[in-house]
Amino acid sequence: MSQRVKIKALLQSQQTDIDVTVKGWVRAFRSNRFIALNDGSTNNNIQIVVDFENTDPALLKRVTVGAALSVVGKLIASQGKGQTVEVIATDIEILGDSDPEKYPIQPKKHSLEFLRENAHLRFRTSTFGAIFRVRNSLAFAVHQFFQERGFIYLHTPVITASDAEGAGETFHVTNFDLDNIPKTDTGEIDFKQDFFGRPTNLTVSGQLEGELGAMALSDVYTFGPTFRAENSNTTRHLAEFWMIEPEVAFNSLDDNMDLAEEMLKYVIKYALDKNADDIEFLTQRLEEEEKQKPQNERSEMTLLEKLQFCLNHDFERLTYTEAIDILKESTPNKKKKFQYPIEGWGTDLQSEHERYLVEKHFKKPVILTDYPKEIKAFYMRQNDDGKTVGAMDILFPGIGEIIGGSAREERLDKLEQRMDEMDIPKDELWWYLDTRRFGSCPHAGFGLGFERLVLFVTGMGNIRDVIPFPRFPKNAEF
Ligand code: ATP
Ligand code: MN
Repeated sequence: MSQRVKIKALLQSQQTDIDVTVKGWVRAFRSNRFIALNDGSTNNNIQIVVDFENTDPALLKRVTVGAALSVVGKLIASQGKGQTVEVIATDIEILGDSDPEKYPIQPKKHSLEFLRENAHLRFRTSTFGAIFRVRNSLAFAVHQFFQERGFIYLHTPVITASDAEGAGETFHVTNFDLDNIPKTDTGEIDFKQDFFGRPTNLTVSGQLEGELGAMALSDVYTFGPTFRAENSNTTRHLAEFWMIEPEVAFNSLDDNMDLAEEMLKYVIKYALDKNADDIEFLTQRLEEEEKQKPQNERSEMTLLEKLQFCLNHDFERLTYTEAIDILKESTPNKKKKFQYPIEGWGTDLQSEHERYLVEKHFKKPVILTDYPKEIKAFYMRQNDDGKTVGAMDILFPGIGEIIGGSAREERLDKLEQRMDEMDIPKDELWWYLDTRRFGSCPHAGFGLGFERLVLFVTGMGNIRDVIPFPRFPKNAEF
């Protein structure tokens, strides 16, 4: 009995005329003779050739789209075009039938919305196979990038008592009987009786805990799930997403930008090398989709070109103040085409402004720095001008913000003063402030939304399509 060989390995096999066992799911069966079998190791199918005259017709009837098969046969150089090798079957075993009348995933093209509703089966499609193989490579590359540079992978908690930014909408964590919540004498919820003896929530960011690690281990990163109950039904927000958050002692804002740019290029290059077939497939998919759009809305570059362009160009670095000047003078602003007109210095940038800068003005990834302190978090390092902080946002074409980061305020007095101004409870964050009391030092870090990265590399249009089980308002079925 020979061992199962993955289809990817079979298709690359230098050897032919060998006995093989291959297992997978039927993608197509034509002329009662050619089975296209896929096992998810690659987008390509192996062709199984059936000697139908000598095969039980009852068995052949069970070779339907979606059925799971185990095939024993001989790998030979293919006679037909479209593949270099194929398997001449000697024995076919049906591991699991798939009723062709009921199986929802047919060879015809399905809408992404339909597949989202059938998310338990969408892995069986070429598009989603490609997406999740690329996602896998990107995740691995993130670890490899940091590990090669001596970073420590730190697991920050999923359940926390802090809301890192004070801004994110959090999901509560409790084991109270919701029909009978303990109250105090004054009628408030008595969290003392709750599991942790205090209100807790799912983390919106591992940064504050990451900073504690960096203040001893110097170079750390987190890579874990993050939860935000923001009721934004956008194509770029999920309620559960994965975030990569490096935090580095002794790094300046410039070091932080260099690290972020280097990391993005590294992981994109890794996926391009490792998943050339998948990215080629996704490039074609996007081209097909673009054909449905009017000429002036089509993108100038293919997906592959976009990714290569990103690798071969320095990201444009400029300050928020410089960006505001560009936006104020821009044609869409003057022609009142922005939904949110640029009022002047101090306004937060909307995604339409970010995308104008990236897609129309600079036509490449942009790093914006030194934002007004009023629109940024309390922990960002205050600049000497008294107005701005050492923030950096990285903006990507088609995505908008992909990374948000900053130099952290390491000076205790300045940090406390800002917390007071912003009504951040200092007593609750005593443990965070302790890092500034004992051996504080300059440091910096950032957060990369993993799904926004996968969105960029796969060329997909909706963030719900790049995570295996998307969570968004009113959706947590699977
Ligand atoms: P945005 O303005 O796009 O909502 P943000 O300012 O809330 O982003 P940060 O708090 O800086 O984002 O989070 C760091 C990164 O996490 C972002 O740059 C983005 O890539 C990602 N991110 C933030 N919110 C979400 C979300 N709801 N779903 C997926 N990714 C997200
Ligand atoms: Mn947000």
